[in-house]
Amino acid sequence: MFGFKKKNITENEQEVTETLNPEVEEVSINETDSETKDTSIETETSVTNDASLDSETEEVATEEVKKTGFFAKLKQGLTKTRDNIKNRIDVAFDESRQIDDEFYEDLEEALVMADVGIDATEGIIERLKEKVKERHIFDARECKKLLLDSIKEQMSLEKDAYDFENTQSVVLVIGVNGVGKTTTVGKLAHNLKDNGRKVMIVAADTFRAAATEQLEEWAKRADVDIISAQEGADPSGVVFDAVQSAKKKNIDTLICDTAGRLHNKKNLMEELKKMNRIIDREFPDAKRENFIVLDGTTGQNALIQAREFANVADLTGIIITKLDGTAKGGIVVAIQSELKIPVKYIGVGEGIEDLQKFDANAFVDALFE
Ligand code: GDP
Repeated sequence: MFGFKKKNITENEQEVTETLNPEVEEVSINETDSETKDTSIETETSVTNDASLDSETEEVATEEVKKTGFFAKLKQGLTKTRDNIKNRIDVAFDESRQIDDEFYEDLEEALVMADVGIDATEGIIERLKEKVKERHIFDARECKKLLLDSIKEQMSLEKDAYDFENTQSVVLVIGVNGVGKTTTVGKLAHNLKDNGRKVMIVAADTFRAAATEQLEEWAKRADVDIISAQEGADPSGVVFDAVQSAKKKNIDTLICDTAGRLHNKKNLMEELKKMNRIIDREFPDAKRENFIVLDGTTGQNALIQAREFANVADLTGIIITKLDGTAKGGIVVAIQSELKIPVKYIGVGEGIEDLQKFDANAFVDALFE
C-alpha cells in the first residue's frame, strides 16, 4: 500500500471525497501551448545552424565549461553533506591509522551519521573488509580509494537508464506532497526541452488548484505545452486527453505531475493504477517511466516512503530533491542500496537548472574528495 499515513492527511484533504469512477470522466481541459513555441523552434534551429559554424575547439571548450560548472554546482549543492561526512571520513582514514576494528567502527559511524543507513553501511563495510583482505592492504589511505570505488560501483546506473529521453516516452512523477514533485517536473521539462525534445506536461493533480497554477508557471518557464483541467476534475481523464494531444502533436515526452495524497491510500493507489492503464492502452508504444520523488532532507523518512511506494508501483527511477539543504545526503546511498531502484536525478536547488542526472562518480567525488 502507499505510504500515506494518517499523520499525512490534513483536514483539507479529508474533505476530498471524490470516489473515482471506473470509466474516465469527461473533463474540460485547458490546453496551453507554450506561448513562444513557434518562435522558440525557429530560434532553436537558428542556434543549431550557428553552432555548426563554430570551430570544434570552441565546442570542446564549451563542453569543458559545462562539465566544470556541473561539478561545481553539484559540490556546492552537497556542501552540507560533505561537511558532515568528509571530516569524519578523513579522521577515519588518517595516515597514521592501523586498519583494525576501531578503524572500521569509526568508518561505520561516519557513514551512519551521514544517513547512509545501517544496512547499507554494513554492506559497504563488509565489502571493504573483503577487498582489504584480498589485496593485503595495510595502509588506511589506500583503503579510502577502495571504499569510494565500491560505493561508486554500487550506485552506478545501467547504460539504458536515460533511454526514455531519446524516444517517445511517458513519465509519471509520483510522491507525497511537498517533496518537490511539481518543481522537478518543471526542471525535467526544461532539461529535455534544452536537449531539443518536444515536451508536454500534464497537471494530473486536480485536487489542488494551487498545484495546477504552480505547474502552469513552470510550463511557462520551461517553455513547454501544458494540459490542465479545472479543480476536482478526474485526473485520469486529464491524462487521457493529454495522451491524445501528445500523439496528435507528436510530442516526444509527456510528463505527468500526480497528486501527492488523496483522502486514503486506497484511492491514491487506484488512481495511479487507472492512469497507468490508460497510458498503456492509449500509448502502448511509448517508453514508460515511473519516477518517485523523495525529499533528501527527510532522511530515513524518504526511505520509508520509497519502500511503501515500491510495494504498489513499478518504480523505474528515484529522484532525490533538496540535497542542497541537508547534511544527510548519504540517504541517496541508503535508498539505492536497499531498494535496488536506480537514483536517476538529484535536485540541488530551487532553480530550473538545479536538476542533475545522477552520476555516481561525480556524486561520490563531490562528497568525499
Ligand atoms: P510538491 O508538493 O511535491 O509538488 O512540491 P513542490 O514542487 O511544490 O516543492 C515544495 C518546495 O520544495 C518548494 O518550495 C520548492 O521550491 C522546494 N524544492 C523543490 N526541489 C528543491 C531542491 O532541489 N532544493 C531546494 N532547496 N528546494 C527544492
